[in-house]
Amino acid sequence: MYIRLFIFLIATFVSCSTPSPVRSVSNEKTPKNVILMIGDGMGLSQISGALYSSRRGLELERFQVIGLQKTSCKDNLVTDSAAAAAAMARGIKAEKNTFGTDDKAKAPLSVLEEMKKRGWSAGIVVTSSLTHATPAAFVTYQHQRSMYEEIAKDFLNIDVDFMVGGGKEYFDRRSNDERNLIEELKQKDAIVKSYLDGDIMDLNISPQKRFIYFSADGEPLSRSAGRTYFLPACERGIIFLERRSEKGFFFLVEGSQIDWGGHANVDEMVVDETIEFDEVVGKMLDFAEKDGETLVIVTADHETGGFSITGENDKGKPIVEFISKDHTATMIPVFAYGPGSEKFAGIYENTKIHDKILEALRLNTPAE
Ligand code: MG
Ligand code: ZN
Repeated sequence: MYIRLFIFLIATFVSCSTPSPVRSVSNEKTPKNVILMIGDGMGLSQISGALYSSRRGLELERFQVIGLQKTSCKDNLVTDSAAAAAAMARGIKAEKNTFGTDDKAKAPLSVLEEMKKRGWSAGIVVTSSLTHATPAAFVTYQHQRSMYEEIAKDFLNIDVDFMVGGGKEYFDRRSNDERNLIEELKQKDAIVKSYLDGDIMDLNISPQKRFIYFSADGEPLSRSAGRTYFLPACERGIIFLERRSEKGFFFLVEGSQIDWGGHANVDEMVVDETIEFDEVVGKMLDFAEKDGETLVIVTADHETGGFSITGENDKGKPIVEFISKDHTATMIPVFAYGPGSEKFAGIYENTKIHDKILEALRLNTPAE
């Protein structure tokens, strides 16, 4: 009797703490919108750490289609964010710390550029600077990830409709030239705001004009140090992008600082940044579930820190260890929902993320 009651209580607890699976949608349809979410440095252990630390379970548990990607780059088993993002953005294997695009004539368009060219709107929201490797890979034709001021110039060559992230200083306090790229963006008819104008949730944003918001001069704060813009920027972004083009949108969302917690071997930061990213995942999934025409892909570029969970302390908190201050080569989970999501099941190279997005949109020949 007691055992039965105990099992009942356990079952009740488990069913309450795990979010319900997403409503299924027809995979036959072509998606109208694509949301690509990258948790930088978010391997399976980072996700597990967040799961065991979260009372409510994770939004990621709602996904039904899950795959694994192989992350190595052209010249190294262990990749970095630039080469890994180039693979997902352009379908190319680049050398470590590069974008693989120095021969601009030969470099394939990124999914963002390809969709922009064909009439979709495009957005980027990150918790790093906009010029940092992951977002940059979708826009830049520079060689090295460290060329922040050069990368900033490339944001003048493509009209990303909605952008939120740090890195203001690479646009308006440049050391290599006298250009003020913020003035140049305004001359190109974009509304450009920053943290100096107030919180993004308090600003008037209209889809009539492109909208760019700089959340910091350099790199934004971590969430524990007071960063609050990530979720509201993504919520405002989705409303903006939906109204911006009838055709649909491409939205790149990056939780950039999970990786930084990994490099610093600070498990609280890894977990906190992953939990925040997961909250954003939940909001994007809610939108996609309601909309029925949105393909959501959540993945990472690589794992950072060789993070592992080796036990729990007497308060039930996971005990964790890091074996590295750098990235590792472990395979990375890919979660997908919406029309075309079934293509993301299985085990494949990171370049296939690019191929499968285009295939889902029917903009490409099928990926093998
Ligand atoms: Mg990144
Ligand atoms: Zn890193």
